[in-house]
Amino acid sequence: MNDIIVFDDIDKNGPRAYSGTFDLSLKEIDRPEVENVGPVAIEAKADRGDLPGEYIVDGTARFTADLACSRCAEPYPFANTSTFHVRFRPRPESSGEEEEEVEIAAAEELDVEFYSDRLVPLKDLALEQVQLSIPMKPLCDEGCLGLCPVCGSNKSREACECETSIVDERWDALKGLRDQLKKKDV
Ligand SMILES: [Zn+2]
Ligand SMILES: [Zn+2]
Repeated sequence: MNDIIVFDDIDKNGPRAYSGTFDLSLKEIDRPEVENVGPVAIEAKADRGDLPGEYIVDGTARFTADLACSRCAEPYPFANTSTFHVRFRPRPESSGEEEEEVEIAAAEELDVEFYSDRLVPLKDLALEQVQLSIPMKPLCDEGCLGLCPVCGSNKSREACECETSIVDERWDALKGLRDQLKKKDV
């Protein structure tokens, strides 16, 4: 098996390389913006860290997906390659206050994760990378004009009748602002 990182293996045999390709379900990814996702290819290297019980996993994950644009709701293709660097540390065992503080302080370092079991399925890392890579507000294009709030048509594709009046209103607001600024200058 080459798709589960087993810390005991690393203790015994030294650093190890892993790779795998995983099909994730939309339910697992749990982000409504994702309409479709291809297989996730992941490569990782695991080694012992500096702290007792610490393991360092470095790697890259690649996938493609169809995301729904947050402005116009149209799906668009998304391709992502991410590199990651995660330090796995043993979860502090007792829930004494001091240890909780240690846990919170370490969790603030972005790349630290705590383990209870001495193994990490590569698929879990792949899922995590997919979830981290999906933008909070996906955009089909930086300049996406979104949907007309009046008739609901996609403004990047078609100019509707109602669009002009809304744009005019915006211009009026801008002009008003400019007039105000001019008055201030005088
Ligand atoms: Zn869009
Ligand atoms: Zn319209």
